[in-house]
Amino acid sequence: MVQEVRIAKRTGFCYGVREAIDKAKEASAAGKATHTLGQVVHNEGVVRDLQDLGIQTVESLDDVDHGAAVVIRAHGVRPDVMQRAEARGLEVIDGTCTWVIQEHRELAKLVEEGYTIVLLGTPKHAEVVGMLGFAPDAIVVDEEEEWDAAVPRTKRMALISQSTQPPWKFERLAALMVSRAHELKIVNTVCPVTIRRQQDTLEAAKDVDLMVVVGGRSSANTKELTRLCEIAGTTAVQIESMHDLTDASVFGEAKVVGVTGGTSTPIEDLRDVAQRILELAGTPDAQAHAAELAAAALDQAATPAGRTTSLPNVTARPTSESSDRWLAGASPRSSERRASAS
Ligand code: SF4
Repeated sequence: MVQEVRIAKRTGFCYGVREAIDKAKEASAAGKATHTLGQVVHNEGVVRDLQDLGIQTVESLDDVDHGAAVVIRAHGVRPDVMQRAEARGLEVIDGTCTWVIQEHRELAKLVEEGYTIVLLGTPKHAEVVGMLGFAPDAIVVDEEEEWDAAVPRTKRMALISQSTQPPWKFERLAALMVSRAHELKIVNTVCPVTIRRQQDTLEAAKDVDLMVVVGGRSSANTKELTRLCEIAGTTAVQIESMHDLTDASVFGEAKVVGVTGGTSTPIEDLRDVAQRILELAGTPDAQAHAAELAAAALDQAATPAGRTTSLPNVTARPTSESSDRWLAGASPRSSERRASAS
């Protein structure tokens, strides 16, 4: 039976996702009709919470009324989408992650310099679609089996990546490309948050009997965490939320269970999963104290960078004083982002 649950350090939303959500909440709290273009995060619970605050998810700019606010999510968009939103008279709130903005700049530079660009990424992922807006001729490659046929032999080539690709994959592709170009420029845009999360998940997996990985089924960075746990030799169970845990036999003989989550998983979900594990498969003592033990596990793991929001509790329109403070940028977000990005 499970005696202890540990939550991997530096989990919870990445700063890019957190800031995009905070921007949507700020706009709504300021009384604006607020929409996000696509789900701001691939997490149904968070999307529902935003809906409760009056923030709607739309799939097309055509669904947003003139003058309303539209939040661009952390993955970013093609430049023409941004232009179309402005041309339609929408208030564009750019939640594109600063790291992704940097990717866009690097891509534009590579295009200007005339490189043949190879982009490591998942072809239809929103971040990759946005990146292609800056380099329409880039060759997108994903699985290793495709590389040999897709990567050309040419004089000047550049390699760049979607932020959440695993570092080992990026390095392996770079090694292949070295032999195919006279000049190879490598722009490493694998996000440090992704790298740290993978390191901490591996660290957690080493000392536990079983890992539970929490995140969207289609989330590439979540799937990668599951794969890494298995590489570390620890069985991993991937779930979307605590509601997927219904069968205590999943935990077998495990005494210590680790919990980790993708960049779109709020850290509070990890606490809820920890509690659920203890209630479902814990020793009698662990079952009796499941809530306290889960809260303690969260305290051990949570850093300011893992918090779900940097805003005060946004449930209603703020007073003019608090609204002014937010709009003046007095929230701790900027400094915290720098700290978490370092
Ligand atoms: S994973 Fe990194 S690049 Fe992507 S949104 Fe999060 S912080 Fe930004």
